[in-house]
Amino acid sequence: MSKTRTIKSIRGVHDILPTDSPSWQHFEKTFSSLLDSYGYSEIRMPIIESTELFKRSIGEVTDIVEKEMYTFTDRNESSLTLRPEGTAGCVRAGIQHGLLYNQQQRLWYNGPMFRRERPQKGRYRQFHQVGVETFGITGPDIDAELIAMTARLWQLLGLKNIELQLNSIGSNASRQAYKTVLVEYFTKHYDALDEDSQRRLSTNPMRILDSKNPQLAKLIATAPSILDHLDDDSQQHFDQLKNLLDAMEIQYTINTRLVRGLDYYSKTVFEWVTTELGSQGTVCGGGRYDGLVEQLGSKNTPACGFGMGIERVLDLMEAQGIVPKQNKPDFYLMMIGEGTLAKGMQLAEQIRQQIPNVKLITHCGEGSFKSQIKRADKSGAKIALIIDNKALENQQIIFNPLRDREQPQQTIAEDKLIAILLNQMV
Ligand code: ATP
Ligand code: MG
Repeated sequence: MSKTRTIKSIRGVHDILPTDSPSWQHFEKTFSSLLDSYGYSEIRMPIIESTELFKRSIGEVTDIVEKEMYTFTDRNESSLTLRPEGTAGCVRAGIQHGLLYNQQQRLWYNGPMFRRERPQKGRYRQFHQVGVETFGITGPDIDAELIAMTARLWQLLGLKNIELQLNSIGSNASRQAYKTVLVEYFTKHYDALDEDSQRRLSTNPMRILDSKNPQLAKLIATAPSILDHLDDDSQQHFDQLKNLLDAMEIQYTINTRLVRGLDYYSKTVFEWVTTELGSQGTVCGGGRYDGLVEQLGSKNTPACGFGMGIERVLDLMEAQGIVPKQNKPDFYLMMIGEGTLAKGMQLAEQIRQQIPNVKLITHCGEGSFKSQIKRADKSGAKIALIIDNKALENQQIIFNPLRDREQPQQTIAEDKLIAILLNQMV
């Protein structure tokens, strides 16, 4: 053993190990085919962007920009940041490539995000989100479609016990009116606020409603409600959205304290929340952000989207005992004795060429019958295919069922092999 110290991954980031991959792949496949079925296209943005993008979009007075971003100075003195979320980069890319101007777009992405938070279950420094963003659609129909799509995802994954919380934070004008009464209310209770909230009272008072400090819960619960300050347009949008959800039989709870942690939202905001993951119970959050495209320098464009934490969804699947089927190999090819290796590898390629979606493992590293059959068994393969010297000489392959004891071992002529293996695939 070497005496050199080994190097470990840094705090709050994780390897996704081979035993975890089936769950990730199951989620990702389900998600991408769902999005495809709704007519959405995938977009892939860089992980690294200029810091200004996040400051201008997420907002200077938010947890993310104030304390969670991985920001560094590049060699040419420009300030760069590892993306903490996907919406800003998606809008940046949409503007840059002319995808948003006078058009409708329905986009989705999947990838790692970075936030310097205190690591705990369900909260990591590198985590993964799938996100969906739509542009150029004003009405609540698209808000409802996004919510219906997430409800369908839970159904496809077999997840239960996730509650939809819904709110409207209105237009800019309604928020201005609301902020005045909110500031009045919290000013009356200034001494009861924590330091963060006292600061936010002057910088971004609605953010106080998003506080996770349990000591503020009661004060926040009795604060004035945004829903009493919606202008007509926002009210109508919200009412229509609720009607559409009712029509699709999607249940929701109105949560007037739901404001979401980012600055760019307007009108609809929603979260899918579960009680089964402790305090990291929000698996998905989203809403409308009509002002953001203009804020980032293009023409005023309505937009609506959501982000979903993949780790939290997978944790919930685990908590609910949902285990995706392991994709076991169909065949394990053993080659025993002088001269069988070349034949075996050639045959393996032929099988892969002629049987679509076959999962075939070729034994590597030679070895005795005993050691090879042990590996074949451990691989989980249904059938071992064996070439030994005798089979090689007679142009045959030995077909050895590993799981089904009723099925006998057979010796098959090489020219019949593909037909017999194809039969095993159904
Ligand atoms: P939270 O209130 O839990 O901090 P957030 O409001 O900061 O969440 P968003 O920015 O809306 O989260 O991100 C969308 C989703 O991404 C969240 O609902 C959650 O599922 C997931 N998420 C956010 N931060 C983390 C993290 N640090 N680790 C793992 N998942 C996360
Ligand atoms: Mg957060």
